[in-house]
Amino acid sequence: MKCMYVNCDTAPEYLIQLEGQQIALCRKHYTRLVNTLNKIALKYKKASLNEDIYVKKIRGRVRFVSKKPIRKKK
Ligand SMILES: [Zn+2]
Repeated sequence: MKCMYVNCDTAPEYLIQLEGQQIALCRKHYTRLVNTLNKIALKYKKASLNEDIYVKKIRGRVRFVSKKPIRKKK
């Protein structure tokens, strides 16, 4: 079993429920998702996985997109 994030072959450690489906994620991509939620929470005072994150499907894999604009740190 692999992490379901696009282009990731790491073994998943976390299982999340999003848009009615289970998504297996490695530590790195789970952390990335949590960081995105934290950024939304900082900017908008609240954040919800199911309300604020959109799952973009690419060739059977997933990518997470914030529904709200957040400033990206480089
Ligand atoms: Zn991953």
